[in-house]
Parts: sequence; C-alpha cells; structure tokens
Amino acid sequence: MLSTMQDVPLLISRILAHGSTIHGTSQVTTWTGDGEPHRRSYAEIGARAAQLAHALREDLEVSGDERVATLMWNNAEHVEAYFAIPSMGAVLHTLNLRLPPEQIVWIVDHAADRVVLVNGSLIPLLAPLLPHLKSLEHVVVSGAGDRSALTDAAARAQVRVHEYEDLIAGKPTSYDWPELDERAAAAMCYTSGTTGDPKGVVYSHRSIYLHSMQVNMAQSMGLTDGDTSLVVVPQFHVNAWGLPHATFMTGVNMLMPDRFLQPVPLAEMIESERPTHAAAVPTIWQGLLAELLAKPRDVSALTQVTIGGSACPPSLMEAFDALGMRVCHAWGMTETSPLGTIARPPAHAVGTDEEFAYRLTQGRFPAGVEARLTGPGGERLPWDGESAGELEVRGPWIAGAYYNGTDAEPLRPVDKFSEDGWLKTGDVGTISPDGFLTLTDRAKDVIKSGGEWISSVELENALMSHPDVAEAAVVAVPDEKWGERPLATVVLKEGSTADFDTLRDFLAGEGRIAKWQLPERWTVIESVPKTSVGKFDKKVLRRQYAEGALDITRI
Ligand code: ADP
Repeated sequence: MLSTMQDVPLLISRILAHGSTIHGTSQVTTWTGDGEPHRRSYAEIGARAAQLAHALREDLEVSGDERVATLMWNNAEHVEAYFAIPSMGAVLHTLNLRLPPEQIVWIVDHAADRVVLVNGSLIPLLAPLLPHLKSLEHVVVSGAGDRSALTDAAARAQVRVHEYEDLIAGKPTSYDWPELDERAAAAMCYTSGTTGDPKGVVYSHRSIYLHSMQVNMAQSMGLTDGDTSLVVVPQFHVNAWGLPHATFMTGVNMLMPDRFLQPVPLAEMIESERPTHAAAVPTIWQGLLAELLAKPRDVSALTQVTIGGSACPPSLMEAFDALGMRVCHAWGMTETSPLGTIARPPAHAVGTDEEFAYRLTQGRFPAGVEARLTGPGGERLPWDGESAGELEVRGPWIAGAYYNGTDAEPLRPVDKFSEDGWLKTGDVGTISPDGFLTLTDRAKDVIKSGGEWISSVELENALMSHPDVAEAAVVAVPDEKWGERPLATVVLKEGSTADFDTLRDFLAGEGRIAKWQLPERWTVIESVPKTSVGKFDKKVLRRQYAEGALDITRI
C-alpha cells in the first residue's frame, strides 16, 4: 500500500524560506572588533542569499552541482552562502582555514572547486595558494582586509576577483529555487585529518534537514526564538554543528564572532550581546575560563554551553557550572553531521547524585542514530556500561561513504565502514543499558599495557583536575616489558612548583587511577600541540618522543 502523504522533499531552500519569513526579524550579529557589531535580519539574509544565487548563476555561471567553496569565518555573509549555494543546486564546500596550505590545495583540487568566497582578512592565506588551485576560476571577497596581494596573484593565476557586495548589488531579492532531489549533495566537508588524508563527507539536503530538526529537539540543544546562540564552532567545521540551519528553523538569533576567537573578545561579546547559548570545543572554553577568572565579567545571560569535539574535562564542567554556565556535553564527528549523542540526564537522575555522572558521559543516542559496540574480535558487545568496544553507528545523517573525487562509486574503506554499511567511528567506549555513551578513548590513542587497556583520556582528566595543571596529554609509548605504557606530558600553570611525584600521588589518591595505570614517564611541555580544529594532536607528541625531543623523567 502506498502512503497518502505529500511527497515534499526536505530541502535547504525550505529552511531558508521559513527562516527568512516566519522568523524574518531574527538576527545574525557579527562581531567586528571595532565596538559596533554588524546586525542583519533573517529577512535580509534571505534576500541577499537570493541575490548571491543570481550572481553565482548569471555572472559566474555556476551550474548544476558545481562546488562553490568558502574560506570564511563565522559571519552573516557565510550564512548567506550556506543557504544560497545548496538552495540553487550547487554544493557548498567549506574550507578549514586552519589546515596546512598544502592540504587546502589538495582539498580544493579534489573537490574541483570553481569559485571560492573568501573573507578579506584571509587574503594573506589564499593569495599564495592561487597559482596551485587549478580548478579555481573566481574569487569573491567580502569584509575588511587589504586586497592588493590577491589582485596581483589572481592576475598571474588567471583567476577573476570580485567584490561580494558589487556582485550581488541590484540583483533580484527573490529566487525561484529549484525543486531538487532531497538526496542530492548540498554541502561537503573534509575531515580534519587527525588520521591520514582528509576525506570528503558529502551531506544531502535531506540529511541536513533531519539533523537540524534533531539539533532543535528539547532533548538536544532545544533552543527557541527567545535565544541567542554564540556560534564559536566554525562554520568550516561540520557546518558549525548544524546551528545555522537549526536556528533558521526556529528563529534563534545567531551571534557570530568572525575572526575574534580569543578569550578577551569572546568575554566581551558574551557580556555585551548577552547570548543565552554558546557552542565550541573545550580548548576555547579553557581559554575563556582563565580570562573570566582573571577578570570577572557579567556572563549571567549565558546559561547553556554545548561542548563537544573532544571530551569535556570534569574540571571544566564544574568551573563553568560555578559561573552559571551549564555545560551540555555532546559527541559527534564530521561523518555524523555531527550530532551523534548529547548528554541530557534522564529525568529520574535530575537533582540526584547521579546527575553529574550522566552529564560527563558523551550522552544519549537520539532516535536518528542507531549504535552498536564491536569488540576486538568483531563480536557484538552488550550495553552494560562496562564492556568497551569500538562504536559503530548508522542513521539518516551518518555518512555511508566518502567522496572519491569523481561521480564514480564513492569510497568505503574497510577500516571506516562495516560490511553491512555501519560507520566505524574509531572511538572506543561503553554504552549503558539506558543508551548513554561513555568514550574511554580513540582506538588509536588507547594504551595497550600488558594485555589491558589504559584510557589516555581518563589520565588526562585526572591530571587536569589538579590545581597546578593547565593542560595535560597522555600518549602511549613503547615499553619492553608491557608493550606500551603511558607518557604524561603536562603544562603547568604559571608560577606552579608541583613536581612529578606530587602529581603521581595526586593521581593515585582517592582511588582516581588504579596503581598499575599510573605513568612512570613524565615531562613538562609549554603547550599541548593542537590540530587544525583545536584538538590535542597526539601524533606530534608521539613523534617528539620517538625522536628524543622530549626531556623525560622516570619516577
Ligand atoms: P577528526 O576525526 O579529523 O578529528 P572530527 O572533527 O570529525 O575530525 O572529530 C571527530 C572525533 O572527535 C570523534 O571521533 C571523537 O574521537 C572526537 N570527539 C568528538 N566529540 C567528543 C566528545 N564529546 N568526547 C570525546 N571525543 C569526542
């Protein structure tokens, strides 16, 4: 029997139409750094997105599913690109501006980007790459910044340069958006390459639409039109966790930091613009916390903070709670759009001793994400909160393959996808009977000591809860007797005099860490090396250790 329901495709143009009319007065506020933020209503964003689509189609001749890249911070123009490009049928390709230049070149080439939208402040990054970007024909510049380097480089590389505002000026403020197949490509994002070459994940209109609805559920971020979300997580990093799409569905205002991601401007924008919600990786919040403790500000409006991208240290959660900014922990990946789990404690735990423990987990799987755990021998493990295995997921916003650079069969590497099509996350953890995920490590970071696993994350969290420790990263190093043992690399707070014995005793104290898991190799470092998206880059530490570049103390 066929259903009798209307078959209306789930398209980004529908999210745009909804947001720019029903929530037309909601605003995108972009920080400018000169005291006066820039404000644009959702109605204006809608009109300008239509103008941008006309310009791309009529002046730059973007057709079909061609890729239009962005090399931009979080700002109003980037939101316009987010809606214009997929709505017209082209594919939005957000470039991660923190990647090494040679990777950006590789990615642009792989995606065959023909146009790139760039912020003026990022011209110093783009201009030297132009001679190497073979597929590129047009650069469209928006926002402040000296253009001269670009003009010279573009002339040599035979690329045409346009001003965003000039290009869209006078274009019609509405567009007859095509009725696309909801399964068509809408946007693409390359994984940041913590492991191996970048891999292209291609989102569909349908996957983005469904994911946005999930983001909006009360059990997820649950924001409504009275809220303002400070979107610190970059638009070039997994669609800013789906926030630009989700907010256009609900009328939540967006506060965009542009390039001002340092603790001082973030503290200033929280105080003056009074966002009610904010989203970013732990590294950003560690920096902000230090700033707020050094110079207290009125952050009373900000009551909900979503943290993900790497594990939220308990000490950070406690410190934020104490400032009235309640942390909600979430887990996801580029391949999962990214929302995979979110840690809202179940009703029975709220207000009890169990609540904090629930909040520290990576969270509960929503209805759209199916999960299973696979043991080292490929066996299915129970959801008993104890059996640790690799997490595999599937669902309508989970990747089933990677883009292979052509229209031929996409890539399905066996280490990333199971034979029956589930995504192998590379994350190791347990699942409780009520569906809460606790990650103990990444498969490649877990320390295999004498046939047992030691969680590097657990050691790091315990170290970071010591008052003298600013940051700590733990990596596996080869050991003759045990196979592998943990190496603790510690960043001490300024003026701290803590020695390694003190830190080890602290780890052993109050049953924090079992004795056999305590590191015997220690070193102090100036800062933990970070990846392009602010995660601990443990491969750098492992390499430094192997090359003898670290000054190791054995205790
Ligand atoms: P990359 O794998 O290149 O770093 P992603 O940004 O897609 O790129 O990162 C996804 C990974 O980040 C996950 O597989 C997981 O290891 C880690 N991660 C994300 N959120 C969390 C979290 N809340 N706790 C622990 N790890 C997390």
